[in-house]
Amino acid sequence: MIFIGTVNLTRTRDEGNFLCPACGVSQHYRLRATRAWLTVYFIPMVPVSDHEFFIQCDHCKANWDPSVLEMDQVNPSDVAEEQFCTEAVRSAVLVVLADNQITEREINALQIIASHLMKRPVERDELGRLCSNAQQHRIEPVNYVLTASRPWNQKQRERALQAMFLAATADGPLGELQLDILTKMQELFDFTDAEYHQAIEQAVEWDSDH
Ligand SMILES: [Zn+2]
Repeated sequence: MIFIGTVNLTRTRDEGNFLCPACGVSQHYRLRATRAWLTVYFIPMVPVSDHEFFIQCDHCKANWDPSVLEMDQVNPSDVAEEQFCTEAVRSAVLVVLADNQITEREINALQIIASHLMKRPVERDELGRLCSNAQQHRIEPVNYVLTASRPWNQKQRERALQAMFLAATADGPLGELQLDILTKMQELFDFTDAEYHQAIEQAVEWDSDH
């Protein structure tokens, strides 16, 4: 019998100092690149995915999207809609993956969410690529949104919250982990209780246009 599997190999590509949002002070970071390899008898033979890059804080070990390095320079202006949509879908995917599993119902819900955000049909394999990219380097959802959402405007923040809420509730009632993530989003987006609740209530309407 031949043992075939996959393994993620991660290497350091660069290093330096950055303002770690979790530590709140300048820390040493490493730019890490991770890639999935096919293994035969546990020996990596061929790469089966593209490189995924992330920044790791040496002190708190939190992983960040590489855009964390530009956080100082980003002006809160309107981010390109297409980029926002990708980031919002990715945020929803990370919320689903937070409990380490993804069900058929969650995949269907993510497909509806992605199609609603992008205002076009999103096929399963496109969604699959987004999921596997997000799964590979496992940035915590809250950490991802913290950096990605800097240039988002108020309306985009609402839509991202709605996407994350719908993703989190796709497979029954909210788990503690996902409830915690959604609660942190209110603080992160600087929403009042009223704004937060209104956004959540409107999320239910997303389903009706499909
Ligand atoms: Zn840190």
